[in-house]
Amino acid sequence: MAKEEEKPKVKLPDSEYQGVWIFIEQRNGKITPVSLELLGEGRKLADKLGVELSGVLLGYKVGHLVDTLYQYGADTVYLIDDPVLEQYRSEAYQVGVVDVVKKYKPEILLFGATVIGRDLASTVATELGTGLTADTTRLDIDMKNRLLEASRPAMGGNIMATILCKEKRPQMASVRPKVFKAIKPVEGRKGKLIEETINLNEEDLKTKVIEVIQEVSDKIRLGDADIIVAGGKGLQDEKGFQLIRDLAKELGAAVGASRDAVEAGWAEHSEQVGQTGTTVAPKLYFAIGISGAVQHTVGMENSEIVVAINRDPNAQIFEKCTYGIVGDAFEIVPKFIEEFKKLAK
Ligand code: FAD
Repeated sequence: MAKEEEKPKVKLPDSEYQGVWIFIEQRNGKITPVSLELLGEGRKLADKLGVELSGVLLGYKVGHLVDTLYQYGADTVYLIDDPVLEQYRSEAYQVGVVDVVKKYKPEILLFGATVIGRDLASTVATELGTGLTADTTRLDIDMKNRLLEASRPAMGGNIMATILCKEKRPQMASVRPKVFKAIKPVEGRKGKLIEETINLNEEDLKTKVIEVIQEVSDKIRLGDADIIVAGGKGLQDEKGFQLIRDLAKELGAAVGASRDAVEAGWAEHSEQVGQTGTTVAPKLYFAIGISGAVQHTVGMENSEIVVAINRDPNAQIFEKCTYGIVGDAFEIVPKFIEEFKKLAK
């Protein structure tokens, strides 16, 4: 047993570190949904701690977004508006965020676990010499010690680990999109704007953006879909998996897949739902021929309605569904397609 003096000491944060901050990610002047979701969750944390909630917004000609941030819960917005921030570049955004963090000292700083958020959070944490919990799925406050509790799946998804950053500030975490809900915006809600400048010129930056090529796809993106039809190893082969695509097409839904279906080559990685894929929260989620391993369900359990089809009555997926159908996907799915076709006429 550890001796009294060897127990880790909880150093209460320096009182100069105060407030909950959200990095507001915008692309082409539009706020990403995860930033609004984080303002919703950040509001709860800030209220618990009795501190302000702030958004930190970087970009060029993005001032028009500030009012939206107040409406979604921010008390204060820190804005850096500069041509060097027009397109995301780690170097420039890192300098901007680190400078305002050093100046205003928030106790908590959250990022969306998007491609940009993941990149930026790690460079900011390294530069500040503080800890970062990546891909968090639950946040809370240990009120006794005034610590952020950031939880995420660990050990192959078999346990949830709660990670604390006891001695460094700010406490940082990235959070997956669709894990939390944005609040209903409050029309006319106002806040405080603090404008900062960035001490960088285009010539200081090693990275140049030559061209931005927008991905053109007629597929519905998993993260944006209201309905997802997801298939797993139970579909047996690529031809079987085509049933998932046919049903999705009929419903105007996005296609999802378990990792095993992706590894079998029937679906793309961008279609994978779960711990190492995308986290989704559609209105309706079909899980067809999917066993319901925790690494899959952690990515879809916030869906409003889940319909599971599995021929094994003991499949774990039935513990996570709203409606469960025990039966053969190859009999049931074609009937669904037929019925939805009739409804569409
Ligand atoms: P199986 O577990 O093989 O299940 C197939 C199911 O289909 C069974 O329940 C079976 O009863 C049913 N079935 C069979 N035939 C039929 C039929 N004719 N009609 C109806 N039902 C039928 N998995 C993910 O999905 N996403 C992730 O992000 C992910 N990340 C992971 C990360 C780590 C670190 C690890 C270790 C694993 C991860 N996995 C992930 C893998 C996960 O543990 C499971 O192996 C995987 O989800 C299983 O896929 P499945 O349900 O399609 O296949």
